[in-house]
Amino acid sequence: MRTALLLAILTAVLSGQTTPVMKYGVRVQPGPMDTVLLKDYAPESSVVVPVTRVDKARFPVIDVHAHTSQSQVRTAADVDAWVRTMDQVGVETTIVFTGATGPEFDRQAELFSRYPKRFQLWCSLDTTDLEASDYPQRAVRELERCYSKGARGVGEITDKGTGIQRASLPRAKRMHFDDARLAPVWEKCAELKLPVNVHIADHPSCWRPLGIHQERTPDFQHFNQYGKDVLSYEELLATRGRLLAKHPRTTFIACHFGNQGNDLTALAAVLDRYPNLYVDVSARDYEIGRTPRAAVKFLTRYANRALFGTDMERDAAMYRDWWRLLETPDEYIPGRIWWRYYGLELPGPVLESLYRGNARRILNWKPL
Ligand SMILES: [Zn+2]
Repeated sequence: MRTALLLAILTAVLSGQTTPVMKYGVRVQPGPMDTVLLKDYAPESSVVVPVTRVDKARFPVIDVHAHTSQSQVRTAADVDAWVRTMDQVGVETTIVFTGATGPEFDRQAELFSRYPKRFQLWCSLDTTDLEASDYPQRAVRELERCYSKGARGVGEITDKGTGIQRASLPRAKRMHFDDARLAPVWEKCAELKLPVNVHIADHPSCWRPLGIHQERTPDFQHFNQYGKDVLSYEELLATRGRLLAKHPRTTFIACHFGNQGNDLTALAAVLDRYPNLYVDVSARDYEIGRTPRAAVKFLTRYANRALFGTDMERDAAMYRDWWRLLETPDEYIPGRIWWRYYGLELPGPVLESLYRGNARRILNWKPL
């Protein structure tokens, strides 16, 4: 019997056969799928389920996260077109991140001035000549000037590990959110009631190696920070903690679910600890879509802390995908990345706070 088995193995080895590999409960065999590249993989679903089209949001919406740079809004006609789309899909007001200070902020303020109720403009931060001793005062002065020209918030200000200054600087010279030079700016924001939209860290998968275990779609590889000379994900979240603790009177909105949409329990703990922190849901459709039950619980419990935002250009279809995700019970929805989404079917009051209520309460609506 033993000799027979040995003989069978020997025959198999000599004929080039190897021990069968079992994966997913089946024996792996060679075939055309072996040459498909990961980046090209685009499976078509055979699932037949209801597809609900939601043309207009159930309640009027304030979109707290949009960029002029990204949406290429340069002319009055672009602004008109944006308003038409907003009307079609049910967005009453959009918060516009100009990404600018100085004359460029003024130009954009002028460009949007025909629609004071439809857009609210936010300015950026002066980050020039950081080393100069007058930097903090200069940054505060420019903030006050932008405020006088209509800025009603600051952001989006980003630190993905290399600091928030525009230029790339060596580690020791970089300016992170908890830098002492910025303290007067955040205090001035509290005084003028200007909320600050902060992008701190990024999706945690960015700090994991690119390779077979990388979680996010290959097309997001340019966001990867693994092995680069940057702060770690944890170090970045620690800068956020120090920022929030040091400036309790300033309202901070951590965009993209604070980049913790993958761990809503951890995010809940941060919200419990810092009452001056809010989150926007922008560009994290894929987080709430893949864990709909946890997301509904979270958005219900923190119904007064989450704001709706998009951060994804300004097509009507983009807004409608959001309405479908938040308002319907649709299943296995094609995602913006590889993950499929499941509709949240949020209860009316939760949806209303997310769409508009919180923005109305915490943003600065003082007219120019
Ligand atoms: Zn953004």
